[in-house]
This record gives sequence, structure tokens and C-alpha cells, in this order.
Amino acid sequence: MPDTAAKTATPEACMICGGTHFTALGAKNGYNLFRCGDCRLSFVHPMPGESEIAAIYEKYVLNDSYKRRATRKIIRSTRRLRRYLHMAPGKRFLDMGCSIGTSVEAARRLGCDAYGIDIDESSIGIARDLFPDGHYHAGPIESMPPAWGQFDFLFSVEVLEHLPDPHAYFQALAPRARSGALLYLTTPDGGHWRVPRTFTEWEHVNPPQHLVFYNRDAITRFLDRHGFDVVKFEWNLKPGLKLLARKR
Ligand SMILES: [Zn+2]
Repeated sequence: MPDTAAKTATPEACMICGGTHFTALGAKNGYNLFRCGDCRLSFVHPMPGESEIAAIYEKYVLNDSYKRRATRKIIRSTRRLRRYLHMAPGKRFLDMGCSIGTSVEAARRLGCDAYGIDIDESSIGIARDLFPDGHYHAGPIESMPPAWGQFDFLFSVEVLEHLPDPHAYFQALAPRARSGALLYLTTPDGGHWRVPRTFTEWEHVNPPQHLVFYNRDAITRFLDRHGFDVVKFEWNLKPGLKLLARKR
């Protein structure tokens, strides 16, 4: 049964640190999870294929409550942007995974030249409809229009955990950040004290949606490899990483 054998195979090397020692964390939704013994990255292995992932997001339908929550989300984004905007070297803002554009709109109202990209076309459609003064693009980050140029302040909020190949995402992202640009990134924190002892019981472990679970060490190594230095981690009562990094 070669298929079963492939499904249960342990990973060859950690995608972040290259480590080769892993702990099996069990399975969820039919996907096996492992933890690197070195950087403690936890991840699904083997990763689902692109078509498997695409099928999930095609079924994902935005409901009206999302629209109704837009106002509240703008207020939250504004607060977040006000706290960090002065640390950015300029006002060209990009939200990578912008959903219905609430952060783009918040940034625009704060005087930024604001751009948003999202893989989900229906979200971008809503963004254009609700907030027509922002710049939007539907598609993977690799398809970002070259004319958009470089940015001073970049948001990557709850995106990284969905990506089977985070390196490809950052290889496309890094050239869009000018030297000295500020990156605000959030993703679930697999190293947080509130993550259940039995990892698969954690609510964030829901493959094939969430595939990779970082921690402070793993994300610092990952960002360093792509030319970003972590400036600070925000304290968080919930098991989520919230960090600021600067492009070298
Ligand atoms: Zn590792």
C-alpha cells in the first residue's frame, strides 16, 4: 500500500531550520502533524496539494455578517495602524491577505497610499464595492502588479499558517518591502503556554485550513532568512504571535 506509506511518512527536513528530528503529534481531519525537535515548528505532513487547498476556499462563502462587522474592523485596524505607523519610513501601505479591505480603508483614512491583495476574488469584489478608494488585486502574491512598486508598511495578518510553502510567499513579498520597511505579522503561536498539551486539541489545528504553526524562535529564523529582523513581539494573552519586523 504505497499510498498509506506515503501518508504516514515522517518529514525529511524542517522547512525552517533544516532539522531532521521530529515528534509525531497525531492526526486531525486525516492529516498527520509533526513537531521539529530543534525549532519546534509544528506542521502538517505531507502537505495537501494545491487542488485540495483550492477546493476548501472555493466553498468558503462570505456572509453578510462580515459586511456588518466591517465598521468595527476598521476601528480595530485604525487603532493598530496608529500605534505603528510612525515607525514606518513612509506611508505606502500594503495588506497581504486584505480580505474585504477594512485595513486598507483604515490606512487610507490615516493618509496612506493603501493597497490590498487577496487570493479570494469575492472578498476583493466586496472591498472594491465597500471601499472604492483603495487599490486592490485578486490573486496570489506572486501575481501582484509590478506597477505597485515597493512599500513602507506591510501587514500579514493570519495568513502564514494557511500556506504550505511560506518561503514562496516571502520570496514574493520581500522585494516589495523597501529597506527599513516595517512588517506587522500575526499567526497562531504554537509555543504559547495556553496551547493544549495534546496539540491536535488546539482549536487552531484545523487542516487543511491551518497547516504550519510557528513560535517565536521559528518565526524569527524564518523572517531572518527573508531579510527581516524582528523588532518586537507584542505580549498576547491568547496563543497568537503579533510581531513587528524591519526589512534590512
Ligand atoms: Zn525546525
